[in-house]
Amino acid sequence: MTTEVLSAPATPATPGAAPVRDTGAEALENAQAQLSAAVQTLGFSNGLHQHLAKARREMTVGIPLRRDDDSVEMLTGYRVQHNFSRGPAKGGLRYSPNVSLDEVRALAMWMTWKCSLLNVPYGGAKGGITIDPRNYSQRELERVTRRYTSEILPIIGPDKDIPAPDIGTDEQTMAWMMDTYSVNVGYTVPSVVTGKPVSVGGSLGRPSATSRGVVHIALAALNHAGLAPARSTAVVQGFGKVGAGAAGFLADAGVRVVAVGDQYGAIHAAEGLDIRSLTDHVRTTGSVVGFPGSDPIPSDVLLELDVDLLVPAAVEGVLHADNAARVQAKVIVEGANGPTTTAADRIFADNGILVVPDILANAGGVIVSYFEWVQGNQAYWWTAAEVEERLESRMLAAWHNVLTVANRRSLNLREAATVTAVERVAEARQIRGLYP
Ligand code: GLU
Repeated sequence: MTTEVLSAPATPATPGAAPVRDTGAEALENAQAQLSAAVQTLGFSNGLHQHLAKARREMTVGIPLRRDDDSVEMLTGYRVQHNFSRGPAKGGLRYSPNVSLDEVRALAMWMTWKCSLLNVPYGGAKGGITIDPRNYSQRELERVTRRYTSEILPIIGPDKDIPAPDIGTDEQTMAWMMDTYSVNVGYTVPSVVTGKPVSVGGSLGRPSATSRGVVHIALAALNHAGLAPARSTAVVQGFGKVGAGAAGFLADAGVRVVAVGDQYGAIHAAEGLDIRSLTDHVRTTGSVVGFPGSDPIPSDVLLELDVDLLVPAAVEGVLHADNAARVQAKVIVEGANGPTTTAADRIFADNGILVVPDILANAGGVIVSYFEWVQGNQAYWWTAAEVEERLESRMLAAWHNVLTVANRRSLNLREAATVTAVERVAEARQIRGLYP
């Protein structure tokens, strides 16, 4: 098992050539830079800054996996709990070959701000295992998940830390986690995870929540920028749970999705892609590549197409100092966590591109996770229509709040969102006081 960044090019031998990027370290740098900027705006003390910058608890676990051929492989997993000031920690579990402690730290911090910004009563956490799930059987993934859950069992629970799906994990992963936790404590505890199958206490509307939320925000942002959605064009990078869903809901709203990409390649069709047929194509072939009626384009060109809306919905750090100046989209709505580096943010600000930050744009997932936890705690279930309506109203309330703060403080949307979130966490922390 390798922990190398798979997509990065081999270290170039030529002097002066760009070194291999450590995307986890970069993500953490970006998260810390965003916090520092907010702390400066808010005029917080150095002590409070340090407190907010550091995770409360970090756990690294070795996961011995018995493979189907009976050989044993050692994997590494993490759970980082960044903050508990406003409630139990909350955040997803990622299975990817790129997972590192620094990446998980960055993602955990972003969860704290996301939950705070959307006013759900949680702190932030994230978990990850350095594994490429495509190379393992379902039975192996079940063993990995159960062993990881057993290792982190002392620090999770419905009032402590509530995991959910992220890249490379799904409803089945959550069902295994819930079962492992429940068997160990001796009774069924549905609320220890969210994003579960409906049959074991999941919420209606959870699978589509992140992508639905991205599109509520994208439509609001297009209108705000004076662009009528029905006359707008879009590019979506990533065709997983978030990207495919967002492309579909954008198309439903009349936006012409002209190009999409996944980890295997990118495709373009000037007249717009039929997202429903494309989704069927991906289900049968595993990739967007080769979709009939589309032309292949290089993956880096995808991000630089002349469109109204760009939705990066894959991984961190894809919009960086080296490509940001070539981005032509008028509005960027971050479906992924951390897709824009601090250097790229500056270039977008200079070029007048409206960037709607991740902690606002992709918060639909954790909002419906919260709804799922509330429903589980009350053992009372909502209809899909109730979930969708409450999701939309929370997303749009947060959008208007961020716009108001941005105008009042003369900040861009990321700065305004981070300032709002950090201020709320700091307020909870201050009023609770320090123990001892
Ligand atoms: N993994 C998702 C995120 O990054 C959802 C987290 C959750 O529902 O707890 O927001």
